[in-house]
Amino acid sequence: MTKHAPISKTDIAIIGPGPVGLITALACAQETPFSISLFGTCPSSEQLENDTRTTAFMVPSLTLLDHLKVWPETQKHASPLKHLRMIDDCASFVRAPDCLFSASELDMEAFAQNIPNKHLNQQLINLVEGHANITWVKTQAVTSICPEHDHVMIETQEGQSYKACLLIGADGRNSPARRASGIQEKVWSYEQTAISCNFTHELPHNATSVEFHRPSGPLTLIPLKENHASLVWSLRPKQADDMLQLSTDKFCQQLEQTMHSIWGPITSAGKRVAFPIKGMKLDHFAAKRIFLVGEAAHVVPPIGAQGLNLGVRDVAYLVESLKSQTDLNTGIHSLESAYNKARQHDVWSRTMTIDWLNKSLLLSYLPLKILRTAGLNAMNASHTLRKLLMNEGLGASLDLPTLMRPKQKVVL
Ligand SMILES: Cc1cc2nc3c(=O)[nH]c(=O)nc-3n(C[C@H](O)[C@H](O)[C@H](O)COP(=O)(O)OP(=O)(O)OC[C@H]3O[C@@H](n4cnc5c(N)ncnc54)[C@H](O)[C@@H]3O)c2cc1C
Repeated sequence: MTKHAPISKTDIAIIGPGPVGLITALACAQETPFSISLFGTCPSSEQLENDTRTTAFMVPSLTLLDHLKVWPETQKHASPLKHLRMIDDCASFVRAPDCLFSASELDMEAFAQNIPNKHLNQQLINLVEGHANITWVKTQAVTSICPEHDHVMIETQEGQSYKACLLIGADGRNSPARRASGIQEKVWSYEQTAISCNFTHELPHNATSVEFHRPSGPLTLIPLKENHASLVWSLRPKQADDMLQLSTDKFCQQLEQTMHSIWGPITSAGKRVAFPIKGMKLDHFAAKRIFLVGEAAHVVPPIGAQGLNLGVRDVAYLVESLKSQTDLNTGIHSLESAYNKARQHDVWSRTMTIDWLNKSLLLSYLPLKILRTAGLNAMNASHTLRKLLMNEGLGASLDLPTLMRPKQKVVL
């Protein structure tokens, strides 16, 4: 007779130790009375170092990082984003006006803080590893997720079995948790690839993020410390391939030329990494005891620094509902509907707005360009419209959950 390995039990199982999974583990452990298990491999220092991206965290997300004690340590690596400049560089017959937004218009120090992913992820890992209420199951992969009537069964590649009351899928865009939940996704490609790298330049950036709106998509510059910045450059796949092949010197020249030398000569550029740009939309976000967060729940092009900020809001809303539960079994259906309701408007409206913005650049359809130009003209003219748009971009217009509301003002 074969001897089966014992089944371990946990209240909440979180699949995927990406940034959203790590933040979810910390938030659940701090804010709820339940036992928490996180499943997945801990990235090596080499893997952390290889993620050269940076993330612009809007103020509500920073407030959450502050509540979870992530911000004090990451703060020293962060750079403020005080102004946002948009430049129409489509060389089209209808040219939209330049727009400049400043955080001071909203009486804020900065819209966001740009944090290198490697520092953020390292600090999240340190806090999760040091947390007494989180069990990190360092499996190579979760290989089976089976939702049952009153629990979810989980199996790992190493043959361990777990039984959880509730499962949170933070397992990225190809989420096995989403497949297990039966939630259908709609995925589309933009025929664009984003090139990301960090670079240095001669003139100061004055804490200004610049977005050049180009026919292949936006070229976004995000300020880092001193004369350093990070780049997210959306290109057609063939153009991106060509750009990856260039020597560093040639790439710097090409970048400077495309940026119209606004920050002077580009003196060096780090490793270039390519990301195919996709979109994904779900009908709902929770079913069969499985709750989806981060890129398991939505994928948007890297425009306006929205992706991870949306993921952080998923966590904040989910934890807000979990906090009020005493029994995960009896409350599971109301939890699912509360989470579906809380996330629909925010996720869908942002996915559609980013899709529209991206397509208004990619498609050479004149009425769309006229509409975009008229919108930007109206925004330049109206103070109220500008404030509305800035608050919308920050996610500050939403009825934010407790974790995103400041205990005291966050020191930027
Ligand atoms: C170039 C670029 C720039 C960006 N800039 C910004 C920005 O400035 N601001 C912003 O808000 N967003 C930004 N984003 C978006 C942001 O990077 C993503 O939203 C974020 O990385 C998603 O994190 P995640 O934890 O949901 O997914 P992931 O980082 O994909 O993590 C998923 C985790 O699940 C694990 N996993 C998968 N399957 C299994 C399994 N079977 N078992 C166990 N573990 C599993 C994976 O190993 C991984 O650790 C940017 C994106 C790009 C491409």
